[in-house]
Amino acid sequence: MPSHPWLADRTDRFDSSGIRKVFDLAAKLENPINLSIGQPDFPAPDAMKQAAADAIHADANGYSLTQGAPALRERLQAEVDKQWGHADRKLLITSGTSGALNLAMWSLVDPGDEVICFDPYFVMYPTLTEMVGGVPVVIDTYPDFQIDPERVEAAITPRTKLILLNSPANPTGVVASEGVARAVAQIAQRHGVALLSDEIYRRFSYDAPLPCPARHNDQTIVVDGFSKSHGVTGWRLGWVHGPSAVIDKMAALQQYTFVCAPHPLQIAALAAWDVDIAPLVDGYRERRDLVVGGLREAGYTVTTPGGAFYAFVEAPGGSGAEFVKRAIEHELLVIPGGVFSRRDTHFRLSFAASEATLRRGLEVFAKLASP
Ligand code: PMP
Repeated sequence: MPSHPWLADRTDRFDSSGIRKVFDLAAKLENPINLSIGQPDFPAPDAMKQAAADAIHADANGYSLTQGAPALRERLQAEVDKQWGHADRKLLITSGTSGALNLAMWSLVDPGDEVICFDPYFVMYPTLTEMVGGVPVVIDTYPDFQIDPERVEAAITPRTKLILLNSPANPTGVVASEGVARAVAQIAQRHGVALLSDEIYRRFSYDAPLPCPARHNDQTIVVDGFSKSHGVTGWRLGWVHGPSAVIDKMAALQQYTFVCAPHPLQIAALAAWDVDIAPLVDGYRERRDLVVGGLREAGYTVTTPGGAFYAFVEAPGGSGAEFVKRAIEHELLVIPGGVFSRRDTHFRLSFAASEATLRRGLEVFAKLASP
């Protein structure tokens, strides 16, 4: 039964995200050790904050062109052209990477079309797929969270429309190897299937340059954004680039939905090129080492996250949900793995937190190590 007679059947199966539920719990705790949050803990760079204030005072408060404010769009397009040199690669500025993912789904997926994603997955992927009437085809990547190309090949059917690849990944932090990125890109190309590469954590690749499928398949649709790299998740600024016919359709749909990304903040984002984020990334690499080392010392099993700011850890006792309940009793907030997976055997922690918070967290993890 729907919770209200007005609600569309389509929305029946959507509950509020499991992550939100942990946030609600967090609000009730006095001094939580919050390792649940998927956003950087550093503030937006001063240069960007000043540029945002300046843009607002300069009255850039109206709509921008749907494709994006020209100065930002041209800058990003020039970078993409320099990196890829693909003849037919066009760029659209979107309302966050989430906006780009929505527009891609609406543009590409017909009811009944199959969309391949990898378990554990970013929470939006199966939900967005179902929202447009698509069928999620979920490929398991446990225990090391590297994609097995043979399983991708085997999952392709005449209804396959799209493959969603996310590297570095949320929630595992795992970076797809060069071999995997190439193999998935080639499978998509061979079968004429769209490949979307979600590279929002691109700047957070700690051990090696990020392998990109667009290097092996010039039709790859790439989404990216400023949210994580510059600590501006609330600004809602992302972009997508890919084959011009697809991007043009997404731009047309943006006119009827998001209209445009926030205009003054698009202008402010130009200040991002004056900011060196390398020291921040180095700091996150150190925290990754601190957390992974501490967890292993306490007896946990965890795959080293090569990027992003998450670790996906095996729950002692075998149930992520049970572990999270015990953690909350110690004011420690992490997310049960079942939110991102068909399995409930792990939990996700975010190491985008201060060193002091991470050390408090590690003390609690040590206490919780035996079920
Ligand atoms: N993709 C992934 C994998 C993410 O983790 C997130 C944010 N949690 C997004 C996309 C959306 O980011 P935004 O809309 O803020 O750009």
